[in-house]
Amino acid sequence: LRSHAWRASFNKRGWASGAKPFKKVMACNRGEIAVRIMRAANELGCETVAIYSREDRFTQHRYKADQAFLVENKSPVGAYLDIPQIIKIAKENKVEAIHPGYGFLSENPEFAQACKDNGITFCGPTPSNLKDFGDKTTARELALKVGVPCVPGTPGPVNTVEEARAFIDSGVGYPVILKAAHGGGGRGMRVVESAEVLEENFNRATSEAKAAFGNGAVFIERYVYKPRHIEVQILGDGTGNIVHLYDRDCSVQRRHQKVVETAPAMGLDPKTRQAMLNDAVRLTSHAKYLNAGTVEFLVDKEGRYYFIEVNPRIQVEHTVTEVVTGVDLVQSQFRIASGAKLSDLNLTQDNVSVRGVAMQCRVTTEDPSRDFKPDTGTIEVFRSTGGMGIRIDDGPGFQGAVITPFYDSLLMKVTAHAMTRRDCAAKLSRALRELRVRGVSLNKPFLLGVLDHPDFVDGTVDTSFIAENPQLLE
Ligand code: ADP
Repeated sequence: LRSHAWRASFNKRGWASGAKPFKKVMACNRGEIAVRIMRAANELGCETVAIYSREDRFTQHRYKADQAFLVENKSPVGAYLDIPQIIKIAKENKVEAIHPGYGFLSENPEFAQACKDNGITFCGPTPSNLKDFGDKTTARELALKVGVPCVPGTPGPVNTVEEARAFIDSGVGYPVILKAAHGGGGRGMRVVESAEVLEENFNRATSEAKAAFGNGAVFIERYVYKPRHIEVQILGDGTGNIVHLYDRDCSVQRRHQKVVETAPAMGLDPKTRQAMLNDAVRLTSHAKYLNAGTVEFLVDKEGRYYFIEVNPRIQVEHTVTEVVTGVDLVQSQFRIASGAKLSDLNLTQDNVSVRGVAMQCRVTTEDPSRDFKPDTGTIEVFRSTGGMGIRIDDGPGFQGAVITPFYDSLLMKVTAHAMTRRDCAAKLSRALRELRVRGVSLNKPFLLGVLDHPDFVDGTVDTSFIAENPQLLE
């Protein structure tokens, strides 16, 4: 009966009445997320355009598009960051909207602005949203302003080690975490255990941040002891209307990088969960947030929660939210970008509910027995997996595909859906065991170790789980 409500206001092509549907869209990315974007666009009746680098000329995302264009660039990564060429290709081919995916240009306000200036719709937040949330220190400032609890930390970047020392000695104490203000993907962070190692870590953090993110700004937070990482998915239509799509638990991390993600988070006090959902909505509503975003929190052993950042883009782990809510987030991004309001899309809070449990694992071409060194080469055998309740988001994987060293090593995402956590973990584990890839190493044994671990199945592991279980890394 609810499904009638969902369909009511869409036209035959699946767009909200009153919106301006796109005829042709570009996925400005590569790998599984480019394929994911083009699938969503295809279902909305759009023609799809891909871009690819020279190194990616034989990869899947190129062939999944109706049209694909080479971006000539000296650097393999640079091709996906080449704003002038990307805009030129889009204009020459009458692309109406660009979806940036995650990484690359997805959080770049200059790119969002360049799209706008060239009459192309950027399927993401406004340039001003990206400025507010792209810098973790301005995001913290906003959060504090609207009364969202943050980890005790410096109000802005610290410029010298003396400043850092003075701040820590004024009450926060050790351990602390130094974070690149513009960091992401678990990179640009250093935990400092004591005053003796502050200077060396501070200098390293600053130079690493400069090298990796083009901006050396570093700020300090208290290091929260063994927290859980809980995040809230939101959608906004730019008017201050926000709907949340509940939460995800991304506590299973290796070196601050997510490995297995679950929706919803288990074992959270209902009051704490509701407070986090409300805070995520209040913060993004205040910013008149447009499109999809994620508000990330840490929850400590006492059940207190702290805002850490907003990721103003679709995230790798968005699948688990889609599976438990039934809402297609990438299509929602296109629809919102086309001018639809949340109410036009029936995306009101009452219409969003969670059914069962979903878990996603990130299958990478990394060798756990060699410290997760990315592996490269030709895939000789590729036998995918499936079955009831299994969703595959694949990109580069097929027989004959060449895995190059130039990009992120994510090969595919496998997501399971079941009514209980135990069943979901068992389903995901079974699905992974069915997957066969020869020619490159996979992190599969590591993932299976996590999924079969009783503490993981129990549902309340914290971010130190993998570090405390070194046998998982063998
Ligand atoms: P990124 O933008 O690189 O993803 P985040 O700020 O989201 O960085 O942090 C990533 C992870 O690092 C968190 O999920 C958590 O495990 C750890 N972390 C970040 N800040 C803290 C903190 N103040 N205390 C303890 N752990 C932290």
